[in-house]
Amino acid sequence: MATRSVVQEVKEIALAIELIELGARLQLLEAETSLSRERLVRLYKEVKGESPPKGMLPFSTDWFMTWQPNVHSSLFYNTYCFMTGPANCEPVQALVKSYRLYLEHWRLQEAMGQLDDAPVLSLTRAWTLVRYFSSGLLQMTPCVRCGGRFVAHAHDPQRGYVCGLCQPPSRAGRTRRAALAEQAADRTMPATAEFAPEPAREAITGAMTGAMPESIPEATTGITTEITTEAAA
Ligand SMILES: [Zn+2]
Repeated sequence: MATRSVVQEVKEIALAIELIELGARLQLLEAETSLSRERLVRLYKEVKGESPPKGMLPFSTDWFMTWQPNVHSSLFYNTYCFMTGPANCEPVQALVKSYRLYLEHWRLQEAMGQLDDAPVLSLTRAWTLVRYFSSGLLQMTPCVRCGGRFVAHAHDPQRGYVCGLCQPPSRAGRTRRAALAEQAADRTMPATAEFAPEPAREAITGAMTGAMPESIPEATTGITTEITTEAAA
């Protein structure tokens, strides 16, 4: 202990504080610094004013494959690759810098009302993503339409891959905020708000495969009225 560099220790504490502020869990701090668990817990309490959350870290790669997390993780990991590659950063610095850039990007979208009020990708998720890549569980696959590189399972076939942005699922981009705004607008018709929007969409699909209506808006109006009367009954 006596030979331990004071400067090195100060650097590690500064790094730990930065990571805690960005939302790091204890496991991440223990892996990325050589500070003892006791010190990290004390530091965490001092910075956050509360004990670090207990429990295991998420350990499935599947989360990164779902639509919105995949887009956010791919954005983050492309930045991370730039940081560790051309920008020549140390891995932990690359993590911090790319996560800060990701947050910046998210804040801009959030300010424009396009995203929910918490970032999709937490720092701990971003860190597990990096670890999954280094242990060979994930790969970056290029989209044949836009040429962007996206997070995918390792050894998944790469030929003909189309990303979630070029081919979004039907509910894509539907944020909780948008849903709340819609509910507020629909306050005069509480039944529709309660039924929004999954059953309506299923009903539309049903309607489309059955008797083909003249136009989709017409079908939607029909269904909305149907749901409203159904709920009122
Ligand atoms: Zn694409």
